[in-house]
Amino acid sequence: MSSRYTVLIRNARIVDGTGAPAFSGDIGIAGSHIVALGRQLEGDAEQVINASGLTVAPGFIDAHTHDDLVVLRQSVVPPKLYQGVTSLVIGNCGFGMAPVVQEHEAAVKTYSSAILGEDSLPWNWPTVGAYLETMRSTALKQHVCSLLPHGPLRVAVMGYGQRQATEREIQAQEALVEEAMQAGSAGLSLGLMYVPGMYTPASELTRLARVVGRYGGVVTSHMRGEGDHLFASIAEMLELGEKADVAIHISHLKVCGRHNWGGMERALEMITAARARGLDVSIDMYPYTNGSTTILQLLPPWVLDGGIERTLERLRDPSSRRRVSLDLQTGVEGWENQIGYIGWEGVRIASVQSEGYKGLEEKNMLEVADLLQLAPDEALFELILHERGKVTVLLQLMSRADIDRAALAPFAMLGSDGIPLPGGRPHPRLYGTFPRFLARYVRERKLLSLEEAIHKLTLLPARRFRLSEHGEIAPGKVADLVLFDEEAISDTATYNEPRRYPVGIEAVLVAGRPVLWQGQEHAIYAGRLLTPERMKI
Ligand SMILES: [Zn+2]
Repeated sequence: MSSRYTVLIRNARIVDGTGAPAFSGDIGIAGSHIVALGRQLEGDAEQVINASGLTVAPGFIDAHTHDDLVVLRQSVVPPKLYQGVTSLVIGNCGFGMAPVVQEHEAAVKTYSSAILGEDSLPWNWPTVGAYLETMRSTALKQHVCSLLPHGPLRVAVMGYGQRQATEREIQAQEALVEEAMQAGSAGLSLGLMYVPGMYTPASELTRLARVVGRYGGVVTSHMRGEGDHLFASIAEMLELGEKADVAIHISHLKVCGRHNWGGMERALEMITAARARGLDVSIDMYPYTNGSTTILQLLPPWVLDGGIERTLERLRDPSSRRRVSLDLQTGVEGWENQIGYIGWEGVRIASVQSEGYKGLEEKNMLEVADLLQLAPDEALFELILHERGKVTVLLQLMSRADIDRAALAPFAMLGSDGIPLPGGRPHPRLYGTFPRFLARYVRERKLLSLEEAIHKLTLLPARRFRLSEHGEIAPGKVADLVLFDEEAISDTATYNEPRRYPVGIEAVLVAGRPVLWQGQEHAIYAGRLLTPERMKI
């Protein structure tokens, strides 16, 4: 005779994701779904988990990842699984793996490699539908929710050139957006600080965003500016939402540059006012004061025009080198000069590719300059040329007060923005974001309740991306669950030792199956490509 439950979790303290007060009880699971919730559930089970002393929450949803390549090729992103993350939102900051046409495949792969990683297999997905079909047919340990990345979309139609799209090219992009939304994308992600997003005018974005809006999707954005141009950038996004009638989600909201610190209050006021006018706006953030990006983002935009080979050519040419040096000193109108914000000592090398330069990892740019016996700007050029731009850097950009303020906004969820490259020292947010939030914000500093915090990691992002079966512990929902010790949960990853798993997480269930159990990751492939619900069309 078969059991009523495949898994029965007994004596748990349940934080259900809605923000409601925790309660004690049992959770009955049959197959992939929660089927019963209550005290002392009757009926037998194939597996009983005694959760005495543990808290059970919905599996965490990482609202902002760059795990596209890792999850596709390796089925799981361990640094996320060990944090209790059961769903990964991919395709962020305008970076992603589809649509890619053969003509631009090599360029897209090279350009994305500093964020997504290197891949030797082909990216032959001229449509998002073809890509998502590949994802669907891949065995996954975690769920995936996919955004259409603006970079590959625009490049598929018009390459990497620095110019406005023609009417024909806009129509071709609209058709691709339509196709992507029909195929199951949650929305469109913009990377307006990156090529080719930085070349795309608002009028062109509005056309694409309208298509997303018709499908009830969301437009997410790594905005044009996060420092001196923060408020103008937020205004641009809010206007886009209003003009295109589409929900807006601002990625990794932050206030960069010491002289801008304190600006979060006004940023949140702008968003709150837009919400009061009826616009659906949300944000994600990570609980760290350092940012991480590719070394190319330290250069003025004109140097990046035309792709990586052109950039390297310019950096080999003495007269354009002089121009870059001057721009780094004096700035360029409309460009966020990170070096100007934080100085050379505020830039730290996280990872390089070549063995010869491994010794530069962890050093700040003044130390790098010393070691190479060059001026800091010359050291920067040398590093970019030698590594062909494949260097990730940490930037000491933000103030804790601003980050705290963002975290507490009712429309704020967490997104790790981790860069999952092999080797080197990644930003510790890759391994620590979620446990860190619960340890620091809830247990240590008591800035919000556990229930409020869990809501930001679960149901809030589930609603944002319209994942109606996820993010909540209730009968009928998918049994994505994380079991943890409230008193012990903590990140352990640091800037110096970032590849350390958190502590205090006892088990992670994906669709009713214990994938992380008794400290071990198991060969259980219950993850799915999640398709957003409630299409307007
Ligand atoms: Zn970003």
